Amino acid sequence: MSNQDWQGKHVTVAGLGVSGIPAARVLNGLGAVVTVVNDGDDERSRAQAAELRAQGITVRLGDGATLPESTELIVTTPGWQPDKPLFAAAAEAGVPVWGDVELAWRLRGRDGREPAPWLAVTGTNGKTTTVRMLASILEAAGLRTAAVGNIGVSLLDAVLGDETYDVLAVELSSYQLHWSPSLRAHSAVVLNLAPDHLDWHGSMEAYVADKGRIYEGNRIACVYNAADPATEDLVREADVEEGCRAIGFTLGTPGPSQLGVVDGILVDRAFVANRQKQAQELAEVADVNPPAPHNIANALAAAALARAFGVEPRAVRDGLRAFRPDAHRIEHVADVASVAYIDDSKATNTHAAEASLAAYDPIVWIAGGLAKGAVFDELVTGAAKRLRGVVLMGRDRALIREALARHAPEVPVVDLDRTDTGAMSEAVREAARLARPGDTVLMAPACASMDMFANYNQRGEAFADAVRALAAESA
Ligand code: ADP
Repeated sequence: MSNQDWQGKHVTVAGLGVSGIPAARVLNGLGAVVTVVNDGDDERSRAQAAELRAQGITVRLGDGATLPESTELIVTTPGWQPDKPLFAAAAEAGVPVWGDVELAWRLRGRDGREPAPWLAVTGTNGKTTTVRMLASILEAAGLRTAAVGNIGVSLLDAVLGDETYDVLAVELSSYQLHWSPSLRAHSAVVLNLAPDHLDWHGSMEAYVADKGRIYEGNRIACVYNAADPATEDLVREADVEEGCRAIGFTLGTPGPSQLGVVDGILVDRAFVANRQKQAQELAEVADVNPPAPHNIANALAAAALARAFGVEPRAVRDGLRAFRPDAHRIEHVADVASVAYIDDSKATNTHAAEASLAAYDPIVWIAGGLAKGAVFDELVTGAAKRLRGVVLMGRDRALIREALARHAPEVPVVDLDRTDTGAMSEAVREAARLARPGDTVLMAPACASMDMFANYNQRGEAFADAVRALAAESA
């Protein structure tokens, strides 16, 4: 759409919040007639509404269900579930629905600059890490780039801001992909697929199908996880540009058109002249930070996308070496009385918690929160032998307690029935009581945090504070 096309166009933005507010502002700036609808009508939304109204934007609080008259387009916050009545009304009226990513995609190149291609990353776990590794590699190659999505630069800013980019490393959630019908990446990866957000998508099939959209229209490479055949199935089903290749990554020896690991070296057998006979050394396993198996997989995925973009092997190594992991992702907080305390607050689902539970032995595990429809049997069975004890907290903790009773009845469990701000301190104290020297206390809740905390960051900080208090006492 050209700039003129937005003039006077009636656009409804579904939801205030981190993506709704900037979208409303941008659309208003383009000359659209913007109405924001929001379910909530609390103090915070009223303050936000006042700011938007001052800019000439209409805001309707306390009614997110009714489609405003003459709406020609809905731009939705990714968090809004597709079964909401607003979308049923939109479908009936033939009104298209775009997510924030779709909006950013459509606004690329408005200023006449050649838009930067997108290297896109999705998956149940490892997205943020992989995108940041990828950006680090692209930077090491001397390219102007940014890690875009959940952290760092927002997509709208990346597309509309003053900065010029050669290429963008873009993290996409399943929600965003659901609402991005016309997105076409240069190359993309689905890192892994495990049940998550099923309450939002309605079923595993629907969740997987939304993730698979990331491959639609890829030009150069569809990167899949050889250990997760469902990701390869999605590549097979995708409608891609002529000549686009399927590239696998594996923690084992790579076959032709794969990246993998041989004798502690990350190697590329995909982007080389003779992939039947040749492999190109990229980096050492020790260059990956931290060199845990799931993280080596992330590094291989990032390397595959960078190589698809034409990046030299040396930049892959330099970029991986320069990468520093984010907070609350298997972060070592302190050792107290010869017990290591690890903050993996970002383990908000069972698949992520499984990765970190596999990395330690013996473990005192702090878990619980919002389960989002998950079941814990497999997770508990896999970890049972390594559990010294478990401290449970949060709304859905009974689900984990029941799984423990079924599969690890001998493991001592402390069940904390409190959700106030002191709960995490008590959890850490109980964990310290269960732990013996040489053990690891691992806060990898396998659940979302919003029942007790604003987000996983705040949960991680509460844990770290409690650990530091414990250390101060025992010093
Ligand atoms: P996302 O952005 O997808 O949530 P992060 O990189 O922030 O992913 O990591 C989220 C959690 O998943 C962390 O707790 C981390 O330990 C775990 N994790 C990271 N990469 C993987 C992977 N490839 N497989 C399984 N778990 C992973």
